[in-house]
Amino acid sequence: MNITFLGGTGTVTGSKFLVSLEDGKQEFLVDCGMFQGYKWLRERNWETPLFDYRRLSGIVLTHAHLDHSGYIPRLYQLGYRGPVYCHHATRDLCSILLPDAGRIQEEDARFYQRHQLSKHAHPEPLYNGDTAEACLELFQPVAFDEPVRIGNASLYFQPAGHILGAGSVILEADGKRVGFSGDVGRPDDLIMHPPRPLPALDLLLLESTYGDRRHPQIDHAAQLAEIVNTTVSRGGVLVIPSFAVGRAQTLQYLLLNLMRDGKIPKLPVFLDSPMAIDASEIYARYPDQHRLSAENCSFMCTGIQYTRSVDQSKALENIQYPHIIIAGSGMATGGRVLHHMKRLLPDHRATILFAGYQAGGTRGARMLAGSQSVKIHGEYVPCKAKVEMLEGLSAHADYKELGDWLLQSKMESGTGIQLVHGEPDAADCMRLYLQDNTPFKARVADYREILRL
Ligand SMILES: [Zn+2]
Repeated sequence: MNITFLGGTGTVTGSKFLVSLEDGKQEFLVDCGMFQGYKWLRERNWETPLFDYRRLSGIVLTHAHLDHSGYIPRLYQLGYRGPVYCHHATRDLCSILLPDAGRIQEEDARFYQRHQLSKHAHPEPLYNGDTAEACLELFQPVAFDEPVRIGNASLYFQPAGHILGAGSVILEADGKRVGFSGDVGRPDDLIMHPPRPLPALDLLLLESTYGDRRHPQIDHAAQLAEIVNTTVSRGGVLVIPSFAVGRAQTLQYLLLNLMRDGKIPKLPVFLDSPMAIDASEIYARYPDQHRLSAENCSFMCTGIQYTRSVDQSKALENIQYPHIIIAGSGMATGGRVLHHMKRLLPDHRATILFAGYQAGGTRGARMLAGSQSVKIHGEYVPCKAKVEMLEGLSAHADYKELGDWLLQSKMESGTGIQLVHGEPDAADCMRLYLQDNTPFKARVADYREILRL
């Protein structure tokens, strides 16, 4: 079989691997991600696909994040009507993430048109919300370990512990067994179970997002308790910009446990993100996939106040006593959190707490670097509030955790490893770490490279 690397090489976005079987009849994609970040990367989303999507027998999706799934609606728009195989929970999460991505692209296109920022007179979205909604009809969800057949190939998903529904793909075809790690979670994540060790493989495509970093060993609950308590002692509001899937659920879980254990006062907590509310409900649907007990889940639903409508969101500004608002987006690049920040940033009693990686160029990164003011909706807002960061809540294993995961596997030293899904430095550090600390040899895959197996 041949594997062509069509994304997730030299970058953590656009994951896309084309598998072509020896019989020349079957071709399918593992992951179908959107390129994000730098403009030269995003432009790849607009290029004619480097494969013939009419020949595809299927798309195999490791998990719901857009850097793995966000190109599916584009292929649908071009005419792809084949199946998309993934875990049931991935399908459920895609049903909120993909339409949202489409709507954001429509808004961006309108913004570009209004401000004449595009070289096109009528800038188009890559796809719209309706197309993203429609492509969900292609999804054929399965359970972990349930076999999927594509021509002569057979495959299954095994839990990868990254987010709900996330799986590694184990593919058997042409007498070989190939693993696609997908994004790999951590051994001691607060809410997800550890990733399952891999079976014996001939080849593994391994993610390397944190190939050059170790996550700090931090007591998240203690750090969060201290931030909540100092904010309350100032009589202020705590605003937490958060990603809707995974992070928002972890934050709710941490806050509610702190209240139950008496480590922080019983404060109103508002989840002001319809998407995060939907995601929390989906987490509650799959109790065997995470560490949250039924009691935790119902506690989450009763202890947290969900503000779905815009009016409910706006009404939060009338609350005078200390409270906590969790709202999107996670890097304060858009969403409802901007309205709360505009109102509360000039308030020295308030705290803005970032709870995840802040990419360069985002408001979050600028505020953490100590900006005196940030531009929100065209206005410069002075930063008088305290800006804090809750470190180490990553949903990706670091290099040591990935190495340990491989050591637990049944893989032998001869297994070929191709490193993907990492910035160049991270992927190369991962390669060196494996070389020096494990029996495995790895190389870093290149964009458009074809590997013959
Ligand atoms: Zn992911």
